[in-house]
Amino acid sequence: MRIIAHLDMDAFFAAVEERDHPGLKGLPIVVGADPAGGRGRGVVSTANYAARKYGIHSALPISTAWRLAERAKARGEPETVFLGVNYRRYREVSERIMALVRRRSPLVEEAGIDEVYFDLSFASSFEKAAEICRELKKEIRERENLTASVGLAPNKLVAKIASDFRKPDGLTVVTPEEAEAFLEPLAVRKIPGIGPKTENRLAKEGIRLVRDLKRFSREELQLRFGKWGPELYDRLRGRHEAPLQEEYEPKSVGEQETFGEDTGDLNLIFETLLGMCGGVWKRMRSEGFLTFRTVVVTVRFADFDTHSRSHTLAAATGSFDRLRFTAMKLLMPFLDRRENPRRKLLRLIGVRVEKLEK
Ligand SMILES: [Mg+2]
Repeated sequence: MRIIAHLDMDAFFAAVEERDHPGLKGLPIVVGADPAGGRGRGVVSTANYAARKYGIHSALPISTAWRLAERAKARGEPETVFLGVNYRRYREVSERIMALVRRRSPLVEEAGIDEVYFDLSFASSFEKAAEICRELKKEIRERENLTASVGLAPNKLVAKIASDFRKPDGLTVVTPEEAEAFLEPLAVRKIPGIGPKTENRLAKEGIRLVRDLKRFSREELQLRFGKWGPELYDRLRGRHEAPLQEEYEPKSVGEQETFGEDTGDLNLIFETLLGMCGGVWKRMRSEGFLTFRTVVVTVRFADFDTHSRSHTLAAATGSFDRLRFTAMKLLMPFLDRRENPRRKLLRLIGVRVEKLEK
């Protein structure tokens, strides 16, 4: 029997800041771009739970977060603290937490700076595995003064959904017998792979819950979703065999940049893109990677409509010129009628390389 845990730190960046600055205790905290008095142009990285009560959440434009904070203040609620991202600090804390996890499991997959999968099959019962997780949570609280939420399930898919089920400081156990019923009443969006666009499309047909989508046969899902349909069919039923990947390597290196103001200035756009290609290429090399195969370009228009386009080369290459050329080619359609018929201005562009090898 497989027993997989997924641990997710609660509001990680904001929680570290709150802990490190006792004066901020209990206040709404937003970690992210500089709000610049409401004119800031980046996004929120993390909001703590007090700030979430104001409607502020990660990936929200920082200017919107600022507005929500001002509105709360006008209602007489506590003032929100805006902080920059102190990545190095969070990395240190993360490393110590990962070490605590590694002490309890022989197979660990770090899925991000604040989340990790680990295999507890050796415990041979969900009760024993839950006990290990309770101890781990306690140790994280005592040593780091931070809380984590954990999901325990027969596979990564259900474990991840379970860790998100009760937050903060939660522990949700879903046994193999319970997995299918556990997913049924959840929103379809909770299934990894179903994004906001699919969610909207399904909602128009009245399909909101996993239960609703389960009415479709494997073949029907294949017709609707293509190759992904059969995989989705299994996911809706809590079936997922993906193994843990012990050797976590950054699978991609990327940069993105928000323009000082929305722009249609081709010179500026190309210059920015080339600069980012240089940065990405250097970082790829400095992290020990020699080649890439896939280039991804992201464009966000002034109205926040966001698109990514990728190209995978026939063979891996380490060529900077190849990166520049491919990124350019991917970006071009967004600057003319092909992908931008209404000539919208650009707010942000990003470049990423994937399929890296050492
Ligand atoms: Mg988290």
